[in-house]
Amino acid sequence: MTILLSTLNARYTHASLGLRYLLANMGPLQERTRLQEFVIGAKTTEIVERILARKPRIIGFGVYIWNVEETTKVVAMLKRVAPDVVIVLGGPEVSHEPGEQAIVQAADYLITGWGDVTFPKLCGEILNGPKPIMKIHAGVQPPMAELKLPYSLYTDDDIKNRTLYVEASRGCPFKCEFCLSALDKTAWPFGLESFLAEMESLHARGARLFKFVDRTFNLNIKTSLKIMQFFLDKLEANPDDPVYAHFELVPDHLPDALKEGISKFPPGALQFEIGIQSFNPEVQALVSRKQDNQKAADNIRWLCEQSNAHLHVDLIAGLPGEDVDSFARGFNKLVELKPHEIQFGILKRLRGTPIIRHTEPYGLVFDPHPPYTILANKQIDFMTMQRLVRFARYWDLVANSGRFANTVVTLMGETPFENFMAFSDWLYTKTDATHRIALDRLASLVSQWLQTRGMSAEEAGRLLASDYAGRNDAAGAKTKTAPPAARPEASIPQRQARHLAA
Ligand code: SF4
Repeated sequence: MTILLSTLNARYTHASLGLRYLLANMGPLQERTRLQEFVIGAKTTEIVERILARKPRIIGFGVYIWNVEETTKVVAMLKRVAPDVVIVLGGPEVSHEPGEQAIVQAADYLITGWGDVTFPKLCGEILNGPKPIMKIHAGVQPPMAELKLPYSLYTDDDIKNRTLYVEASRGCPFKCEFCLSALDKTAWPFGLESFLAEMESLHARGARLFKFVDRTFNLNIKTSLKIMQFFLDKLEANPDDPVYAHFELVPDHLPDALKEGISKFPPGALQFEIGIQSFNPEVQALVSRKQDNQKAADNIRWLCEQSNAHLHVDLIAGLPGEDVDSFARGFNKLVELKPHEIQFGILKRLRGTPIIRHTEPYGLVFDPHPPYTILANKQIDFMTMQRLVRFARYWDLVANSGRFANTVVTLMGETPFENFMAFSDWLYTKTDATHRIALDRLASLVSQWLQTRGMSAEEAGRLLASDYAGRNDAAGAKTKTAPPAARPEASIPQRQARHLAA
């Protein structure tokens, strides 16, 4: 083995699609290339020891926002103990602003953007000469038909135990400035027939959960319908062994043909991630997000009322031009539409995103360390931003967890944002923590809070008992929501999280 492809995934269940693409496209070097994945939190020395045990001459690291700090330590240690091993970096985190990054300084080469063609070419030059002179190589984007699909590289173990990421297209034609896909300017589809043939073979090998990472599944309705039909056929043929499909949608584009297709899915088979981010038209204009709010709201309502799809809808707090009142109005409007989950995310400054053009006029202050969360802006000071961060965390624990499904409705009352914020502020004074609050304790605190708002202890007890949490049946609670493997990372706006996922 000469070349090792490696990355640190956020969780074991996340199988890196990017590394598998690289491996699939190594050409004649493929037989000399292996893949080795780690999970963040592992000891640096152990990672380095396990990598060096494979005796690679070249190591290619996939660097993402969630692993950049740990990968930096791994690269620095490798360079100390094995300076002759050539280190090549790639991935969204190092594709922009490389000059500022310690990991880039420590590495030998960097490929920015698409690595599928450029990585094997660079490896060939490193191994056979002439030695590449330039350190930074702009990744070449090949015609989509020339890319080898990587799905056969998912092992049986991956299929059995991990989330299978798949993509029918890359890129996005929209330009939301907080999102890395804003730089794509367009979307590039893979050949549909060959893609579906790969899905067929994954299904035949036992795959049942397919997570599409396409930026916008409903761009090309004909393609969307064919992909949905693939899953409907599988559901019809094997109702006792169902498939689950997870897609990302733009909310204001749901023509009747697509609605008809969606309405055919039984419960528990379909999940949609939908980005709203902000309902404020001025904020949308500022960040170049084109969205018909009325159509988006109507479509979310339709999906909630007329389909069996599980809906997860994203809002982002901290966008330029949006104060707390405006965010609260958007939040309340979204609660009224009743999606299954509202992902309350806090703005992150992803490297390379155009949002930085608002830094001065809107006083955007970001944490300089990954994941570069916003700390304050002109409309929201630091202390208030921290209250929003805690709201997001408690919202995950109480609302998105599904463990307080009935209670949370009462807790939110007529003004969900304001009431939940009051609860969040109170909960923080009681716990001094946003993590590691045991479910029993959380249920007891929710009961206490309801009593401070005038509810009797018996009434609060009855309400909590109507939820899983009240019966201390945390395991059962999961059945109320999406399949666990398909659930997104907490507290990261999904349209930003898509760039955080492997
Ligand atoms: S937020 Fe969504 S629609 Fe906007 S650029 Fe990113 S992927 Fe495209």
